[in-house]
Amino acid sequence: MPRYADILLPLAQPTYSFSVPEGMKLGVGDAVAVQFGPRNIYTGIVWRLHDQKPDFKRIKSVGRRLYSEPLLDQGQMRLWEWVAEYYMCTVGEVMRMALPSLIKPQGSTEEDFRADEFRPRTEAYLRLNDEWQDRDTLRAECERIARRAPRRKESLEQIADFPSERLNSFGEIPRRLVDCDSAMLSALRKAGYISVTERERTIEIAHENMFSLPQLTSKQTQALAQIEQSWAQNRNVHLLHGITGSGKTEVYMHLIAKALSEEKDVLLLLPEIALTSQLISRLERVFGSRVTAYHSKLTNLRRTEIYFRMMRSRGGELIVGARSAIFLPLRHLGLVIVDEEHDSSYKQTDTAPRYNGRDCATILASIYGGKTLLSSATPALESYANALWGKYGYSYLDERYGEARPPRIILSETMRSVKRGERKAHFNQPLLKAISEALEQGEQVMLFQNRRGFSPYVGCKECGWTLRCPNCNVTLTLHRDKNRMECHYCGHTTEIPRVCPQCQRADIHTMGFGTERVEEAISELFPEARVARLDRDTSTSMSAYNRIIKDFESGQTDILVGTQMITKGFDFGRVSVVGILNADNMISSPDFRSSERAFQLMTQVAGRAGRREKEGVVVLQTSEADNPVIGWVMRADYDAMARSELQERHQFAYPPYSHIIQFTMRHEDARLLLGGATLFAERLRKSFGRRVIGPVAPPIDRIRGIYALCIMLKIESGRSMSKARELIRKVMGEMEGEKMYKSVTISIDVDPQ
Ligand code: ADP
Ligand code: ZN
Ligand code: ZN
Repeated sequence: MPRYADILLPLAQPTYSFSVPEGMKLGVGDAVAVQFGPRNIYTGIVWRLHDQKPDFKRIKSVGRRLYSEPLLDQGQMRLWEWVAEYYMCTVGEVMRMALPSLIKPQGSTEEDFRADEFRPRTEAYLRLNDEWQDRDTLRAECERIARRAPRRKESLEQIADFPSERLNSFGEIPRRLVDCDSAMLSALRKAGYISVTERERTIEIAHENMFSLPQLTSKQTQALAQIEQSWAQNRNVHLLHGITGSGKTEVYMHLIAKALSEEKDVLLLLPEIALTSQLISRLERVFGSRVTAYHSKLTNLRRTEIYFRMMRSRGGELIVGARSAIFLPLRHLGLVIVDEEHDSSYKQTDTAPRYNGRDCATILASIYGGKTLLSSATPALESYANALWGKYGYSYLDERYGEARPPRIILSETMRSVKRGERKAHFNQPLLKAISEALEQGEQVMLFQNRRGFSPYVGCKECGWTLRCPNCNVTLTLHRDKNRMECHYCGHTTEIPRVCPQCQRADIHTMGFGTERVEEAISELFPEARVARLDRDTSTSMSAYNRIIKDFESGQTDILVGTQMITKGFDFGRVSVVGILNADNMISSPDFRSSERAFQLMTQVAGRAGRREKEGVVVLQTSEADNPVIGWVMRADYDAMARSELQERHQFAYPPYSHIIQFTMRHEDARLLLGGATLFAERLRKSFGRRVIGPVAPPIDRIRGIYALCIMLKIESGRSMSKARELIRKVMGEMEGEKMYKSVTISIDVDPQ
């Protein structure tokens, strides 16, 4: 046994060497408890075992080993190292985020640490005793007791008829799935019908191999064949570009079934998975107990159980997850599918590692020798370019499934409607007409507005004062239902002002409109319609969210108003009208991706309309009818958008023709920050010259009282990124030596969204 172990800790630090006590068996990837610093016991991971004596004096020894199996395999370790290198953070920071906190207990004393440790929950499982396994015997018995003990008979029948695909691998029935009380269970046990065993809840479940797959259309079959063919030729990443409603999900199902039947694991990534219960139930209908959802809304315990179950699994699991699912042990990974691959929520932005789940997923697949399918109706230009350049395989599904046709898009110019006096509240006449027709026919309507709340500004008509957040450089949003003004960045709230604090006049007005106001206005215009709203304010819990979706799905509501949330992958059959209330605030943002984003968002929203026989109508309200983005959306011309945007990106060396590394520097003292940022930018310029842009203020340059400045580095494609990283590390190291700016923080975002 080697004498030393380099241990990774969940800190922004390199690995540390510890000695391995005599007689202790350790392997790479094992979790151990280690004392670090005088007052901390951490969970660490054995990263390397060796015999080189470290050159510091007091070498501590590894504490106890935590689990009977290694937590990480080689593949996961490679992924972590890749993420740390690519996104410029430490492997310890990857660890901190990748493992559910219950897996990595921590404490100041051994008792503390133990209290924090994961204890698997047990669960009761039942089975019929051998003498009752025979159907006829049991039936006869049920007949016999039917009169005397009807409830007992019912329970027995329920157990006997339990669907076999939901049994665990011991052929037992999970107690929680049996609908009878504990008195009854113990009676059945005493009478000798059944036996009950307690088992760890992470236990695997038996797998059914018969999937009832949808019959593919000829277009879908063709796409499927193209995907498999290009994979077979070792082009391991394939882009499936399929218009909304073309049945991409059905194509996935076939790919998934194939991988599962070879006992491979499949990872299906979804953006904001908490919002995708609809897709999960569709998958469960086909893959039953093989489907496991994994996302941050699950409890820590549940995530930990899933981690351990996957660690011990022998393959054939379907994980449907948010980006963090790439860190699960997927040791038999054969296939990764990234649904809506263009979605910016695949990118983690707030804390390191600022990784893109889509890009990491393709790396993960390649580590395990699996294949990747990226899929979207509106691919990210980066992915599309990779397809154009032949790096990715590509197929295009250009037809909606069945009788469904692409929606008809009606352009409605807001200014013209105003001039004609045809605009009521936030709705131009064509939209009102479409809504009332739909309601008359018993069809449903979705209204999209990019902003939540009632009104994003309140201010004084007289002197121009607006109510702003004291901590952030933004206006406060009016929330009528809470009767408060609220900051969407720091959560600060105040009362709604009655008089202007600047000129003392009671001339306070609201400007702009959010979903809440749309909901109110549409309810007034169509009092007989049942209106619901889906945004962050109305879906604070999963159950609230699910209720809104369910009500809309079952026709309990007629009109659904919402933010981006209503765009994500929904398949509602009775939506015939979609209204995009204000396209302008999407196309006017200064970001180099704003045209692409606006196109994607509007196309996705429009895609919710007319998903069955009846043609859907989309009314697009804008005052910038000449903007090319509007034209591309109207003609559903992704290719034109892509060609035009790619040309522009090429000209200005934006991605995909470059990689951007963005540094955000923060401090509560604006002048100190500016000094530090200027110095940092200067130093970067010494190595990178004109590739350095800034420092510039980000769109919101103060949040929670902290000022921010950004410096952008553009590295043209073809230049060595690893060389660039090396130079950056050097400059960052120099900055650490600058006493004056020590308190200015620098965060790095590689490939920012
Ligand atoms: P996308 O994900 O491409 O927007 P979906 O997979 O949601 O499209 O498909 C749109 C609708 O068409 C869904 O209701 C789906 O069940 C149906 N559909 C698509 N392909 C098939 C098929 N081959 N057989 C049966 N239904 C299909
Ligand atoms: Zn005023
Ligand atoms: Zn604020």
